[in-house]
Amino acid sequence: MFEDYASVFDLGDILPRDKSRLREDIGMKKKIGKFSKEIREITKQETCYYCGNKFTSFCNSHSIPAFVLRNIAENGEVLTLNAFIDNPIFKVDKGVNQAGTFNLICRNCDSKIFSEYENPENYCNVPTQKMLGQIALKNNLMAISKRMFEINLYDKAEKELGLPSELRRVKNETNTLDLNEYIESYKKAKKSIDKNSTSDYYLCYYEKLNYVVPIAFQGAIALIADFNINIINNIYNMSPEYKVKNINICVFPLQNETAVFMFIESGDKRYRNFYRQFNKLDRDDRLLALTYIMLSYSEEVYFSKRIEKEIFPNEQLQKISRNTSEILSPTPFVDPILVAKEAYDLSKRKLIPNLLLEKYKIN
Ligand SMILES: [Zn+2]
Repeated sequence: MFEDYASVFDLGDILPRDKSRLREDIGMKKKIGKFSKEIREITKQETCYYCGNKFTSFCNSHSIPAFVLRNIAENGEVLTLNAFIDNPIFKVDKGVNQAGTFNLICRNCDSKIFSEYENPENYCNVPTQKMLGQIALKNNLMAISKRMFEINLYDKAEKELGLPSELRRVKNETNTLDLNEYIESYKKAKKSIDKNSTSDYYLCYYEKLNYVVPIAFQGAIALIADFNINIINNIYNMSPEYKVKNINICVFPLQNETAVFMFIESGDKRYRNFYRQFNKLDRDDRLLALTYIMLSYSEEVYFSKRIEKEIFPNEQLQKISRNTSEILSPTPFVDPILVAKEAYDLSKRKLIPNLLLEKYKIN
């Protein structure tokens, strides 16, 4: 599971060695595997995050529904973003069962609380409020699990790997702020589902493609800037009063078609300009912008092996897929939000292949 987390920070931060040497170090994979296993142990909860009951066994919850991943899998396997990044430490392909998983809730809850949105039959129509609530609930759980892991990771790296304590402090200050925001959003989603709300989420984009795309994605993303390069989220604002706002994005390949949609919490004005600009683009350009956003902002994107030969290696794809770690390790003396704006400039989408177009379809 470490690979799920690895690209959110620069590995050089915690491992006191030259990154270029990692490729040669056969023992490194094992060391990281052991280290991350220990952190997973520390991070393990005693009770289910959702129902509060004591755990009897852990459930491997999937960030992306397994039924979606199966639609793009070849022999039960999908490719991770590392196929672009080519980081020798982390596995490039993963079994559907290991792709994007987290352990925070019990089996019983996992089988119940996502059931509407994890039912392929519910995609004949526009997703319901309940489905959006369940997706938001899971995106937040996934993010909570990640932040908990990272906090323990930096604490342990300081103690055992000699990570400078100032770096640990800065990283975990951000992680704690993030964690609290995700907990808040999680509670909102839970409440929305419990009271059967019909208005807590706003579906700002929905499209059904009549072919199966080679990418699957589900996640909450804090967009930094819109199409006019106006800031949406200043992720470097450390004030506890400043809230980072996420947009939920789903690309779900179904059996013969694909559901693509975005939604936000109702009343969240921060994304208004962005989705208005987005919806004014023509259809192909919307798909291109989505491809760019998924690949540059998230490490939880999964690909079908069927597109491998056509797009690997693609220099631009590699470059944008590395975005996450680069902007989180900004150079001193430069305003980091300006660096981030440049790194995530949406006009760069024109440089990458539009992987959601029909020409890349796998079915
Ligand atoms: Zn439970």
